[in-house]
Amino acid sequence: MTRLSLWQGDITTLEVDAIVNAANESLLGGGGVDGAIHRAAGPELLAHCRTLGGCPTGQARLTPGFRLPAKWIVHTVGPIWRGGGHGEAELLASCYRESLALAVQQGARRVAFPAISCGVYGYPLVEAARIAVDTVRAWCREHPGLDEVIFVCFGDTICQAYRQILAED
Ligand code: ADP
Repeated sequence: MTRLSLWQGDITTLEVDAIVNAANESLLGGGGVDGAIHRAAGPELLAHCRTLGGCPTGQARLTPGFRLPAKWIVHTVGPIWRGGGHGEAELLASCYRESLALAVQQGARRVAFPAISCGVYGYPLVEAARIAVDTVRAWCREHPGLDEVIFVCFGDTICQAYRQILAED
């Protein structure tokens, strides 16, 4: 059984096998968690990302963690919230599934996720947290191999949303 846990703080400090980055389609860096990961991983990360040719929304790409304590970074591109009628929920769920699949392929046992799309991409927090938890839980039931998936929250509001959802189920 994979343990699902909640942790509040900066994802770049976590010593896990893989952290997930909420990137944009260019994979060439941005603000928010993406900026923090690039700063902490060092310039080798951007150099490596330039070779990848971007990533479509809902998919994921793998890089080393470079100067991070985490061994790998899974870069995934969440949907921009446009009211909910543009496939946002399915794209967000796909980010979680694709990221887990890539991490497990590398032999990862502990993976940490930020709240994908919940910053500048504007996804409503409670809906996004529900998709994150439900999707990860369902995926882990069907795919053994992971010891722990950590939901990292950077603020109190998102933390409350996760706490409520994790407690409910
Ligand atoms: P997106 O473009 O997918 O919305 P953002 O980086 O703007 O991505 O925000 C995604 C989530 O990551 C937000 O909840 C934000 O508060 C959070 N976040 C920002 N910096 C960090 C960090 N260093 N560690 C963990 N989470 C972070």
